[in-house]
Amino acid sequence: MTIYNLGSINLDHVYRVKHFVRPGETLSSADYQVLLGGKGANQSIALARAGADVKHLGAIGEADSWVIDQLADAGVDTTAVARLNQASGHAIIQVTGDGENAILIYPGANRSLSLSHIEKALAGCEDGDWLLLQNETNGLAEAMDVAASRGMRVAFNPAPMVSEAVGPLLDKVDLLIVNEVEAMDLADCTRVDAAETRLQSEYPHLQILLTLGRAGVVYIGPDGRQQAPAFPVDAVDTTAAGDTFIGYCLAALAAGETPDVALRRGSAAAALCVTQPGAAAAIPEQQAVDAFLATFGR
Ligand code: ADP
Repeated sequence: MTIYNLGSINLDHVYRVKHFVRPGETLSSADYQVLLGGKGANQSIALARAGADVKHLGAIGEADSWVIDQLADAGVDTTAVARLNQASGHAIIQVTGDGENAILIYPGANRSLSLSHIEKALAGCEDGDWLLLQNETNGLAEAMDVAASRGMRVAFNPAPMVSEAVGPLLDKVDLLIVNEVEAMDLADCTRVDAAETRLQSEYPHLQILLTLGRAGVVYIGPDGRQQAPAFPVDAVDTTAAGDTFIGYCLAALAAGETPDVALRRGSAAAALCVTQPGAAAAIPEQQAVDAFLATFGR
């Protein structure tokens, strides 16, 4: 069983600055790092660290093959990552001394996937495989159609949320994964409990995972509603918490675990993630998640 992840790969250029650049100003940065990022890449890494067989479908610029090496080192199958003659998706991130950030994103290669590339990449899929998608690449509807014709199950994390574009895709989705803000946007509600009710009544075929930050996660499926609390940890950086949750939870569901077990594994991995700074670097290895769960007697 393979999880195909059609997702973004971003290069995060992180600059430490005294203050954000002002209009007309030229500012020198004291520190610069370039890190692998993007919701797609983060979720592929989380899936791989959770032990899933994951194949990433995406694209980068020709000049950035080190990114492919980093994904492959994490255990991700990168044979369906295209190298295009254009810029990789990237973010210019200014970080100030008090931890505030200002981010400029250019989607680049992430939004230039050809339909034939997607079809070719999914050619080897089998009945029962999963397709996972976020909302940072093009080709979502096309990939979902291929998935439906092949008997794949579709998991969709529509982030960043653009409700007019996302709503029409939901008929093609089996598992919807949203955080509170995304759920309220999608349901056009100002309260999360109302959003949950509306999503359920408008899309009764959907299984829904609704993540609630430190308040935990709700799962709505054929057997009803379950809520799992977050694990108590000292959070230092919540970047990639959702991506880590998705990778570990989906890996467990795809492996045939019950929702109860999948929620616990996802929540434990995400709790460990928030205790570390950074994105991909903060996604824990499976052994660390097992050891953490053991300390809670689970
Ligand atoms: P996103 O990162 O997409 O906004 P959430 O903030 O809902 O997603 O976080 C996803 C999951 O990460 C939560 O359901 C929870 O299990 C875990 N998590 C997030 N913040 C914390 C925290 N402060 N302490 C423990 N777990 C957390």
